[in-house]
Amino acid sequence: MINNDKRKYLILTYGCQMNVHESEKLAGILEDNGYEPCTDAVSADIVVFNTCAIRESAEQKIFGNIGELKNIKLAKPDMIIAIGGCMSQQQKYADEIMKRYPFVDIIFGTHNLADFDKFLKSRINSGKKVVNITEDETIALRDKLHICRTSGVNAWVNIMYGCNNFCTYCIVPYVRGREVSRPEEDILLEVKGLISEGYKQITLLGQNVNSYKGLDEHGNEVTFAKLLLDIDELAGDFRIRFMTSHPKDLSDEVIDVISKSKHICHGIHLPVQSGSDKILASMNRKYTKEQYLNLINKIKDKIPDAEFTTDIIVGFPGETEEDFNETIDVIKKVEYMQIFGFLYSKRKGTVAEKMKDQIDTKTKKERLSKLLAVKNEIVNRMCQNMLGKTYSVLVESYNENGVLYGSLDSGKTITFKGSKNCVGEFVDVKVVQVRKSVLYGEIVDDERIKDFKEKSFKNPLEVSILPKDQKSMKLLRENKNKKKLQNDFKSKN
Ligand code: SF4
Repeated sequence: MINNDKRKYLILTYGCQMNVHESEKLAGILEDNGYEPCTDAVSADIVVFNTCAIRESAEQKIFGNIGELKNIKLAKPDMIIAIGGCMSQQQKYADEIMKRYPFVDIIFGTHNLADFDKFLKSRINSGKKVVNITEDETIALRDKLHICRTSGVNAWVNIMYGCNNFCTYCIVPYVRGREVSRPEEDILLEVKGLISEGYKQITLLGQNVNSYKGLDEHGNEVTFAKLLLDIDELAGDFRIRFMTSHPKDLSDEVIDVISKSKHICHGIHLPVQSGSDKILASMNRKYTKEQYLNLINKIKDKIPDAEFTTDIIVGFPGETEEDFNETIDVIKKVEYMQIFGFLYSKRKGTVAEKMKDQIDTKTKKERLSKLLAVKNEIVNRMCQNMLGKTYSVLVESYNENGVLYGSLDSGKTITFKGSKNCVGEFVDVKVVQVRKSVLYGEIVDDERIKDFKEKSFKNPLEVSILPKDQKSMKLLRENKNKKKLQNDFKSKN
């Protein structure tokens, strides 16, 4: 129930899953300080932007959204505006925000997110602006924050931070710093706690989880394979996923652990980025097409029901039609269940930004639509093969019309009818219809269902820190008529 006396917070999250999870940590800090969530900037006493630096277009959108708040701040001077995340971690952007948006109250980075509590109290008590960015990457390891989880039955667990790979198109290593791994004990403790709280799908997060190197309680080094093994041995009814996985570091031991595990999903996300050896070298990915395909075949041999998803960049500088066709060849050989395809866009501060032979937008778009057509044809065929088969499905959310949404072990989603008490449970669902690669199913008669109780998970369809477009579009919509905004505010008070 909403308590009208409580101060309200709004977090606007841009970018990847890492940011969504970090927003859950920010929400935890805010709730510990007596705030509760709201869904519009007019009602908010504090608005936090958790920013992304992966694309220039994201930055422009974020700057625009910060600017949109100026009039609300004029009408409501006590409202606090805080900017954190990958963009403000870079000093040049922190400087730009201070210059262009002097009404911003707090600027912090990714490394010192755990200190947000301190920054907030300092701003409230002193009334002074707080700008605090640090380059110390190890600070994140000290975080033992209350996390306000908002992803329903899913829980995200950071196992490491940063990246050492320097792919030539990527800004992440410059922003998130070098790899640091959390101690295994802390991760096991967090996962055990989540299982006992009833979370059913736990995703281990890191920029490259395969290079995890933590320490156990005796100070011995723990590899990613060992970490997976130790998590798999925990008791309970749960699934484990992980992301993201660099193909060059996916070891035989990891494949072996997955093949024998009880809990680790067989849906594996393995970003290929390109199928051309020339482009892969230019991207500094450190594997060839042949090595990638050998890895896929090795996984398929050990885990026959493995299903793959991937990321692909289309139109990287120098990509010819032949290079692009090599990518199409990989797609056909692997038969991915999902592809996240992106048009290459220049990222300031990266090596690829200065590369010659940048590809024009029209060509990039044509290639992407060709790629998606090939993918759709493959995915549709794979989905048709699932017709009539029954799968174990984790029920993740529902809507008011009695429609349930769940995920298979592969990560593929399925829609079916049922009681909302099924949310947070594994049920057997038979695929009865496939429309444009979307699966529709029916719960297979299951005696257990009548005993399911309603859970207290936040329904992900209703949470207030949803990422990027959904929330930022809402903010923009709400801010469109600035006069109306000020009047709204006055009438509310
Ligand atoms: S592995 Fe490459 S793409 Fe992934 S975060 Fe590191 S540099 Fe970026």
